[in-house]
Amino acid sequence: MTIVRVALDVPLPTLFDYTVDEAVVAGQRVIVPFGRRQLTGVVMVCADSSLLAADKIKPVVQVLHDSAPISAHLLDLLRFCSDYYHYPIGQTVLPALPARLRSDKPITLKAVLHYRLIKGTVDFVPKRKALALRIMEMLHQQTCSLAQLKILSAAVGVQLKWLETEGFIEQFVPAAIQLAVHTMPVLPHTFANAHQLTHEQQMVVDSVTGASGFNCFLLHGITGSGKTEVYVHLMDFILQQGGQVLLLVPEINLTPQLEQYFLSRFPDALLVSLHSGLSENARLANWQRAQTGEAQIILGTRLSVFAEIPRLALIIVDEEHDSSFKQQDGLRYSARDVAIFRASQSAVPIVLGSATPSLESYHNALKGRYRMLKLTARAQVAASLPAISCININQTVMTEGISGKLLREIGLRIERGEQSLLFINRRGYAPVLMCQECGWLSDCKDCAGKMVLHLKDHKLRCHHCGFQIRMPRACPDCGHKELVPVGSGTQRIEAVLQTQFPAARILRVDRDSTKNKRAWQTMREQIHANEVDILVGTQMLAKGHDFPALTLVGILNPDSSLYSSDFRAAEKLFAQLMQVSGRAGRADKSGEVLIQTAFPDHPLFRCLISHDFEGWATSQLAERAMAGFPPFVFQAMLRAEGMIEEDVYSYLNQARQSAIELHHVVDIMGVIPASLARRANHIRAQLLVQAVSRRDLQQFLRAWQPHLRALSSRNLRCSLDIDPSEF
Ligand code: ADP
Ligand code: ZN
Ligand code: ZN
Repeated sequence: MTIVRVALDVPLPTLFDYTVDEAVVAGQRVIVPFGRRQLTGVVMVCADSSLLAADKIKPVVQVLHDSAPISAHLLDLLRFCSDYYHYPIGQTVLPALPARLRSDKPITLKAVLHYRLIKGTVDFVPKRKALALRIMEMLHQQTCSLAQLKILSAAVGVQLKWLETEGFIEQFVPAAIQLAVHTMPVLPHTFANAHQLTHEQQMVVDSVTGASGFNCFLLHGITGSGKTEVYVHLMDFILQQGGQVLLLVPEINLTPQLEQYFLSRFPDALLVSLHSGLSENARLANWQRAQTGEAQIILGTRLSVFAEIPRLALIIVDEEHDSSFKQQDGLRYSARDVAIFRASQSAVPIVLGSATPSLESYHNALKGRYRMLKLTARAQVAASLPAISCININQTVMTEGISGKLLREIGLRIERGEQSLLFINRRGYAPVLMCQECGWLSDCKDCAGKMVLHLKDHKLRCHHCGFQIRMPRACPDCGHKELVPVGSGTQRIEAVLQTQFPAARILRVDRDSTKNKRAWQTMREQIHANEVDILVGTQMLAKGHDFPALTLVGILNPDSSLYSSDFRAAEKLFAQLMQVSGRAGRADKSGEVLIQTAFPDHPLFRCLISHDFEGWATSQLAERAMAGFPPFVFQAMLRAEGMIEEDVYSYLNQARQSAIELHHVVDIMGVIPASLARRANHIRAQLLVQAVSRRDLQQFLRAWQPHLRALSSRNLRCSLDIDPSEF
């Protein structure tokens, strides 16, 4: 009788002991009784004894054999995450697996058939059948799938048929997926090498391929410098060695596009994608193809950092600064940071790529903890950087939020058959509706925010909680008939442009206009086919692939992020503006960027205009050092929300008191309202703790945890966020 310690998806920070009377290994999935339910869990430890009394320990209901056990490697990674993010082990392990592996229904996937010899047939194949003989030789060593046999020749199929009909070999379903990874043959692949690398690109590729073991590289390359080309060459190198590459990308919107792109460069490689947009079956199938070592390239969003990749040889994190790498609920992990840990655990290189690295990564590179690699020129010889300038909105005539200069430039582009893009980070018609008589504003009844006017469907809608009402005809307070929209969103800009350029083809791209699954794809095709003159949109437009006819970018209201209470807002704004500016101009057409602002002398714009990321990063780092913000300190945020204000604050104040009494070398800030102090009728507040070293912070958090658990948090939603990215 063995004791197994099992991770279960329940909010308790422990493993659960069960008995089992068959042989099991760590990583195996089991179904166990838990209270009145049955749950699927993962065996973390097999032991001889338990601290519990023998009659308290229940037996495992079923050991699942339908999938290979989770590797010790992945279990270690998950243990690290549970530990570092101070999150229950079971709620770390199980959500990291594809949903099908978490359910208690056995998985029935179409298994990959293998070929094997029929005993005693090796000597009977005629000598003239060379390929058939080689197949027999290979199968003599081990059973193989069709994909593995294709290494011999693309024409292997005909010979396999023949061998099968002659009774030399047979197909069978392997009982369990055997991870004979080290004996797996290296599959040949075709590499569509489109470009001769530039000197700079070659240096970058050589640095990475020349490194041995774990190295963290920060690839800082301006937009259009050919980072993707560098990735592709690195992948080619790794694939030649029989390794697997994990490529992490920020947006699920972009993964199908990227998947197609990388397939075009590696037409016969096995590439799988992992993201939350896949069906459960597809996600499991892809996950297992990574697990068997078959998949050579794993392309995925943040969750793919928890894929099984037995022959992992390189990790690439594209757009490493992107905030979507940070998960904002459950295990609040940063996929970039976990990827770095994973690379060090696997002793492989990792490349963090960006045109605007996060200040954390940039600081680490300056300090020599990461190796800085730079691409300073656009890859295509003729391509120049866009000319960026500011329009002072206080010194010019504005037509409903658009300056005369910008309107004129758009007009010029339409005449020339080129495209313009107006970037405004607000969807809807106007961010708030106001009564001119009494000053009534369209507050959300349940949130501290305003309801946004969506004129198209005559609704006021809260973007925080989703609450919506019909647009009132008169002021709810004083009955005044004239309610005015204040400020602009994408819909209003679209409307203004329609009156200014009645003949122009205008396309609005935001979350509202791309709700349907295919919509964004169709829009992209329209843009590429040059069926659009003016694009209006949110950050969705900043990312993604080239729009070759786009030569003008107008940036409409960036100012709110300049003096935000979130110290990262300016960093994010700079990255966003750099990225959207990079959309303007390509090889044969130069681009122009116009920024409408009341602060044209702000250092952010001055650095942007001179394409000076270094200058910007240096000044920001100096400010952060002065103010004692990350990356010079490490932070943890305790958040609480609940219906009753007193409960929320009393929980946080008690937590704060217990923190102070621990006397650790950490700074414990005051309890303050969250930046959105009320959402969906819940009061929200937070408590920040920070330390100069990560180790001090971790030690403190370990000591603090039991106190937090002892506090009553009934009716509250509480979370501890390590390295928080949002305030
Ligand atoms: P980034 O990802 O850094 O923004 P991309 O990899 O998308 O840049 O490259 C920008 C453009 O330059 C693409 O059209 C790409 O095909 C082209 N390109 C990249 N490397 C080279 C090269 N060595 N020679 C010619 N063109 C290149
Ligand atoms: Zn009124
Ligand atoms: Zn609301």
